[in-house]
Amino acid sequence: MATAERHRAAQLARLASLIASSPHNLVSRGERAAIASVHVPEALAVGAVLDAAPGQRWLDLGTGGGLPGLVLAIACPRTDWVLLDSTAKKTRAVREFAGALGLENVETVTARAELAAHDPDHRGRYDGVVARAVAPLPTLVELARGFVRAGGTLAAIKGPAWQDEVAAAAAALRILRWTTPTATHVTSAARPTWLVTMQAQGAPPRGFPRRVGVPRHEPLRRG
Ligand code: SAH
Repeated sequence: MATAERHRAAQLARLASLIASSPHNLVSRGERAAIASVHVPEALAVGAVLDAAPGQRWLDLGTGGGLPGLVLAIACPRTDWVLLDSTAKKTRAVREFAGALGLENVETVTARAELAAHDPDHRGRYDGVVARAVAPLPTLVELARGFVRAGGTLAAIKGPAWQDEVAAAAAALRILRWTTPTATHVTSAARPTWLVTMQAQGAPPRGFPRRVGVPRHEPLRRG
């Protein structure tokens, strides 16, 4: 193994143990054993199909304990990763992990996506957004849209029901000006996983996302 690769493998192993041993309940007790065997490899497999290029800036929306963002930051070290979550306890832990791993391409933001997406520091400022286990697609496409520049990407990590979610999101996709999603089967993942990807057509539409909680409780249905 080349030196850089060995370094990366060591960082990934260290990350898995940092997340698993954190006192902050970043993952449920039952999931702890699966971090190294399922969650890190899954994020790594996602990284292999994601086109996060060097010099780009990507957002992990709802990063929780740092998945997939920290894994992607290790896998794509020349891409800048902003890891956002509304829970300060989680972003604090993620910041500590990034520091312990010596990751210089990671920044954390503690905020609701509905608010951060209207902040000029974040609005339309990302080449891509990635998210896992944050919201059903009709909600996620609204939470993410404000962050993404014209031509940028949303890549949602989804399970076997991805087609139903895409169908349910039809109106939201049209209103928010996303292209028709395509799904890539993430074959090396330990469980059936798809990366559902779409592109932003033009700048983020004004007025979206709507107020805190509205994208989740009243997902866009027609228009
Ligand atoms: N992506 C991680 C965490 C999933 S749990 C993983 O796959 O392990 C969902 C996370 O999204 C939680 O940490 C929650 O705080 C965050 N979240 C949900 N809605 C959000 C919103 N509107 N703005 C910011 N963070 C949000």
